[in-house]
Amino acid sequence: MPFSETPGFKPSKQHEQLGSAYYDAVAPADFPSLRLRYRNQRWAERIGLGKLSDSDWNDHFGRFTPFKGSFAEPLALRYHGHQFQVYNPQLGDGRGFLFAQCYDLKDGRLLDFGTKGSGQTPYSRDGDGRLTLKGGVREILATEMLEALGVNTSKSFSLIETGEELWRGDEPSPTRSSVLVRLSHSHIRIGSFQRLLYLDEHENILKLMDYAIANYLPEAQREPVEERAVAFLEAVGKRVAATGARWMLAGFVHGVLNTDNINITGESFDYGPWRFAPTLDPSFTAAYFDQTRLYAFGRQPDVLLWNMTRLAECLLPFAPKDKLENVLQGFGPAFRDAFNVAILDRLGLRSGGAETDQRLAGAIWQFLAESRMPFERFFFDWRGAEAKRAAESPEAVVYESTAFGPVGKLLAKYEPRAADIANHPYFQHTEPCTMLIDEVESIWKPIADKDDWNAFETKLAAIGEMREAYAGANA
Ligand code: AMP
Ligand code: MG
Repeated sequence: MPFSETPGFKPSKQHEQLGSAYYDAVAPADFPSLRLRYRNQRWAERIGLGKLSDSDWNDHFGRFTPFKGSFAEPLALRYHGHQFQVYNPQLGDGRGFLFAQCYDLKDGRLLDFGTKGSGQTPYSRDGDGRLTLKGGVREILATEMLEALGVNTSKSFSLIETGEELWRGDEPSPTRSSVLVRLSHSHIRIGSFQRLLYLDEHENILKLMDYAIANYLPEAQREPVEERAVAFLEAVGKRVAATGARWMLAGFVHGVLNTDNINITGESFDYGPWRFAPTLDPSFTAAYFDQTRLYAFGRQPDVLLWNMTRLAECLLPFAPKDKLENVLQGFGPAFRDAFNVAILDRLGLRSGGAETDQRLAGAIWQFLAESRMPFERFFFDWRGAEAKRAAESPEAVVYESTAFGPVGKLLAKYEPRAADIANHPYFQHTEPCTMLIDEVESIWKPIADKDDWNAFETKLAAIGEMREAYAGANA
């Protein structure tokens, strides 16, 4: 069934309203072949594209043929940003574009079909505009895991293998090529604002802020502009803090927290060298090229605040410095509050009051850092704070240690959100579902060696089960 006949699908061209100062119309690459490797049927149904035939899917998400209600041509978005805290005015969509937009049929949110690997643009510099197949597979694994663990993330929507040979320094080359489509709640980045500040286009900053508020952050709608700018910074900060807190509780290290990778909706996106930490090690770092460990696991909250400070600078033309600074000072407390809520979500517990929750979060974090027990195992074992279930874990002896004492005492005060919170079959398995680096490699190897996608499919099914196990309580 083609797009035009899919029931319910609601396309949008909202981003065009901003005008050409924010993007460049570009052409997609002409790939030698298209082989559909991943189709996110769950999200396709959610936006009304569940019945799209595979050949139409390839046509729109591999060839990027426009459809009724889409842009006439894809839009390469303009942005700058700080990479590893060094300003780079030569960024922008160099291997991706905004192909189309639509509305989420469940909650009405505006969603982008953004691409990765769809060809060169004016922002490609020396790059080929392509994505390796391994890079695409890794992005799917990251987004599926994060979504299951309750992180506000972009969704990998489509992955198509494109039949080219790519040369990369960090992968055995030549390596296979792919094009990814992600569904994102905006692609407006902190770096989109920084570019306009750099160019002294203050009116355009205002226009982008008002567009962002109207389409994504209605809670910041205020008059006059001074109050609006302050409310905007606060709204973005709350969302970024909430996402950052949930990364920490997923044991997730994004790896490249440059300002161009921070979405103003707070949605987590753009997954390159990400990793999940096997244990709570604050110095655990994802990217091999991050030699100073700037984006290490434990530094993520500070780095996000540093990035928010860059956004505040873009708002200085519209609001007094002290008011913006005041908002930035609220970032730490907002992060802590979000962290305390997220830890209860992970454990499926009712709040025990703000003060006790704070003590519980502190005690758990200290215990995990000191014991270095497997990170995900702790949350799996203590779902619903059922001491009886935890006592059956292979880690039970750790839970009898004095180091665990304070955590155990606090957990005993807590009530599960529902009596059956840990009854889902997922919690009856012997192991939690994880995505450590050796697992990622062992999923990739059979694909690389013999085009065998079984391990990949099996893992996606396991993640799906985990998602369902957590979703009931946290929806
Ligand atoms: P990222 O690390 O994916 O956030 O990308 C940082 C910048 O490099 C962005 O401007 C990208 O568009 C650009 N870029 C990354 N890889 C490529 C590539 N293969 N070809 C062209 N541009 C790229
Ligand atoms: Mg990026």
